[in-house]
Amino acid sequence: MSVWDDLVGQEAAVAVLSRAAAGQGHAMSHAWLITGPPGSGRSNAARAFAAALECDRGGCGVCSSCRTALSGAHPDVTVVRTEQLSIGVDEVRTLVRRASMSPTLGHRQVLVVEDADRITERGADALLKAIEEPSPRTVWLLCAPTPDDVVATIRSRCRQLHLATPTHAAVARLLVERDGVDPAMASFAARAAQGHVGRARHLARDEASRIRRREVLQLPPQLTSLGACLRAAANVVTASAEEAITSTTERDAHELAELNEALGFGTKGARPRNAASQVKDLEDQQKARVKRLQRDGLDRVLSELTTYYRDILAVQLGTDAPLVNVEQDAAIRTLARRGTPAVTMRRLDAILAARTALETNVAPLLAMEALFIDLAEAL
Ligand SMILES: [Zn+2]
Repeated sequence: MSVWDDLVGQEAAVAVLSRAAAGQGHAMSHAWLITGPPGSGRSNAARAFAAALECDRGGCGVCSSCRTALSGAHPDVTVVRTEQLSIGVDEVRTLVRRASMSPTLGHRQVLVVEDADRITERGADALLKAIEEPSPRTVWLLCAPTPDDVVATIRSRCRQLHLATPTHAAVARLLVERDGVDPAMASFAARAAQGHVGRARHLARDEASRIRRREVLQLPPQLTSLGACLRAAANVVTASAEEAITSTTERDAHELAELNEALGFGTKGARPRNAASQVKDLEDQQKARVKRLQRDGLDRVLSELTTYYRDILAVQLGTDAPLVNVEQDAAIRTLARRGTPAVTMRRLDAILAARTALETNVAPLLAMEALFIDLAEAL
């Protein structure tokens, strides 16, 4: 057993990280940029590396340093996992202060930023200073989808490590061995999730998520009129909003109760003067979280549609590659016959454009309406 056990199909990256943690090879870098496609395990890799750095045996996976580092309870490992759309300068400054402190228990002060691509420009400036003048026992582990998602000045000061997309077989094996998923379901989920480990696990375990996925994949043949496109967009946007709200309602209430208790509501003591503004801050954060979750949901819809149109393209080009969406085989072949590879390429571009629009804060409904109209057969 070791801290690297959960990293599926990342043998090369694990070799680099475990050598670095053991003090072999390159001089230890004090800033790392860990990149890889969504679901490849960037944040797992960063946590495992943090554990290995704190462990006396290089990441045994069983000692208390390893266990607390992996669970997020180690006092010298700080993990920033934002649910907001961005990480602002104040949050970065708090981290930088933390980075300058000596480790209390472990060997190093480790700071993991899971979504370094969400750091604002001013935040990046504050971070840059800390990385340029590092404390000797501090290690920054920044995670992002690709190196280009992080500003060049920061990127150039980090040692870069790229994670591969794990194979379907590796993901399926993990689901069977670790999560006890039935092999046929594991194989379906690994294929449907296209190497995204967390998504595969969710699909394997949650029937509602499988139903939602199927509904999305049934959309393309239905896009035959303007009305149908607008309805499909409204349905997808409403479903993603409802899903986001459902998944946060309980947590929101819990957080508010905790804050109210901290502020002394329900007791006879006087309320602190800034109580109202603290409650408002929490509500703003919660609203931002719902918004991000909704965008993540729509992003999944776009990923699923991408696999669908890639399947159509594969059929049109006559490749022998197995379809990702074998369940939609008949519909995919019909649409493939009706169009040409050039048309399908344009539709794949339209999906990319929708993703960019969502990232740049275009209203979700507008983005999805524009997309479905682009995907529709000649209207
Ligand atoms: Zn250990």
